[in-house]
Amino acid sequence: MSELLALRSHDFAACSAALGEAVVRLRCAALHEELGRIARALLASPQGSFTAADPLALQVPAARAAAPDTLHQEIRVEGHYYGCYQVAGRSDYDIDDRRHLASLAALTGTLLQVHSLAQRATHAYAQVEAQLAHQSQILDQIHESVLTLDPMGYITSWNGGAERLFGYTALEAVGRNILFLYADEDDSQPDLFAEQGGRMMEVRRRKKSGEIFWASLSLSPLRDLEDRRVGLIAYLTDITERKLAEERLHHLAYYNELTGLPNRTLFTRLVDQALMVAQRNELSGCVLFIDLNRFKLVNDTLGRRIGDELLRQVAGRFRAALREEDVVAHLSGDEFAVGLFDVRQHFEATTVAQKLQAALDAPFLIEGHDLRVGASVGISVYPQDGNEADTLLRMADIAMARAKEGHANPDHSVAFYSFDMNQGMHDRMRIESGLRHALGHGELMLVYQPKFEIGTDKIVGAEALVRWVHPERGVVPPSEFIPLAETTGLIVQVGEWVLEQACAQAAVWQRAGMRPFRLAVNVSAREFTESLPNRVADTLARYALDPDWLELEITESTLMHDIDRVIGIMDRINALGVALSLDDFGTGYSSLSYLKRFPIHTLKIDRSFTTGIPNDASDCAIASTIISIGRQLGHRVIAEGVETPDQLAFLRDSGCDEVQGYLYAKPLPAAGFEQGLRENWLLVG
Ligand code: C2E
Ligand code: MG
Ligand code: MG
Repeated sequence: MSELLALRSHDFAACSAALGEAVVRLRCAALHEELGRIARALLASPQGSFTAADPLALQVPAARAAAPDTLHQEIRVEGHYYGCYQVAGRSDYDIDDRRHLASLAALTGTLLQVHSLAQRATHAYAQVEAQLAHQSQILDQIHESVLTLDPMGYITSWNGGAERLFGYTALEAVGRNILFLYADEDDSQPDLFAEQGGRMMEVRRRKKSGEIFWASLSLSPLRDLEDRRVGLIAYLTDITERKLAEERLHHLAYYNELTGLPNRTLFTRLVDQALMVAQRNELSGCVLFIDLNRFKLVNDTLGRRIGDELLRQVAGRFRAALREEDVVAHLSGDEFAVGLFDVRQHFEATTVAQKLQAALDAPFLIEGHDLRVGASVGISVYPQDGNEADTLLRMADIAMARAKEGHANPDHSVAFYSFDMNQGMHDRMRIESGLRHALGHGELMLVYQPKFEIGTDKIVGAEALVRWVHPERGVVPPSEFIPLAETTGLIVQVGEWVLEQACAQAAVWQRAGMRPFRLAVNVSAREFTESLPNRVADTLARYALDPDWLELEITESTLMHDIDRVIGIMDRINALGVALSLDDFGTGYSSLSYLKRFPIHTLKIDRSFTTGIPNDASDCAIASTIISIGRQLGHRVIAEGVETPDQLAFLRDSGCDEVQGYLYAKPLPAAGFEQGLRENWLLVG
């Protein structure tokens, strides 16, 4: 018995090994066949088989009642039915046989279960792998570029679309910060990475080649298995084509195709925007309507090609004549418009209109033709004439038509829409051209007003004041032409003439043996340049005039520019021996700390303060303050516009040094001044 058992257990070990081998290596019928063979061997039976569970059967076949010469054993593991063994052919199956078959079945069940689990896992893994390979293949094939970023903006993946779009391989891109693809620095939005994603935008990006392109970018959050945000997925498509088409459309809608200047639509928009700003800042603005003269003739006789080229060149000259911030538009055909917005005085628009007309003076050389066109300009003013671009343009158009009609030379015709402004402009233009004429035709003259020392009543000097003796209007006071001469720049020529004339007169008196007194010449801010000291030195030399004879009166406004430059010029004038006085003192805003640094001899109390003395308390206070400042800084102080003995008394009591005014003498021509010296006045010294 024990021998038999030993034999059986040896058989069982061998069978187990064979069983393991079969389950791992064999499949289906071959496996079933082998399992049947192992059962026959184990139970030394001539017959025996393994029947696998029918995978399609819904129910496990019911156990059959075994015949005495047959052993039957089902295989079940954890409720799962795998099949059954059946052996037969012996008549003496006993309990041990049954136990052996049960053990074989149990072992078979366990092996089949483990094997099927392992197989299922392998299968699932292979499936996942295949799926991933598919996905990355799809990702690489699709046209869009898809990339992923970590929360700091570092690239974590980069598909084939991105390689094709940007020109960087995944190897070059992954690990770098996304910012390296941005077209410009200020494009970077650091908050982009903090965003929740899910947004679409149009952005500009840079390719490896350096080319900038437009892309539509959509971002969505990238999440891990636990649904935590771990970055962003970015999808980009090149939309440069569409953008360019849009830009072309925009250009067609807002610009004149021929000249590239804004068209009427854009002009109206830009002007309306500027008017809103002007309104907020209480500024005024002007619209100029420009119509070319003789353009139609060129176009009709020489043909459209030449006409077009002419318009292009006119547009170029207009653009070049204007400042960056001025808006210039090509409305249609031979009509242009300009918007000016930081004008302080509306008459500045006249200067711009004349500049545009002057820009057309030189002939246009086109295909061998020497072409000349001119322009008539109409001007409307915001807010007087309207507060909308459309209205202003219409008014300027009407003004242009009037300018063209009412002018002998339409190429120099400029008109305002408003009657008053038009009148004012004509007056100014008349004065300006009249003054030019006056300079060349000896219509200017100087008058001299003496300055007296308080206490001695002797003459310390005289101020030279310019007069314009107009052939029809008589004597024109400087208040009518000096400010205009300052805005147009004519003041420089006027100033040169005055200095020349004053020195010539002083030289006459010097030669006549008079004791020197200072002849003061007014110098405007625009004349106070680096070249002034040399001009003064030249003039003195030319007339062999002693510098004791000359003084320059500069206004406080001159000092408000570049202080160090002004002081430099002053020092050079002083070095010539010419004195400096500060005119209109108290009307500007000279800071006292600067005043100390200016090398001047005299402070001149402005006439507006003298007028209020002695009744206006604040004028009195200002006058006496100026006097004490002058004293402390070691300057002499003179009061101008002294007309009454009361004024004189107050000034004397306050310690003022000198006076000038009608109380003593009005400005007189040289002969009258000489007569005064002979008959009434004594020179100091
Ligand atoms: P300003 O330099 O302050 O000249 C003083 C002005 O006060 C002169 O006026 C003079 O005639 C006037 N005046 C003097 N005493 C009296 C008085 O008692 N009562 C009144 N009511 N007026 C008095 P004017 O000649 O009309 O000159 C006005 C301004 O024109 C001058 O003021 C000066 O700023 C400018 N100006 C005159 N001549 C020249 C010049 O040659 N060059 C420059 N750049 N400016 C000049
Ligand atoms: Mg003066
Ligand atoms: Mg003055």
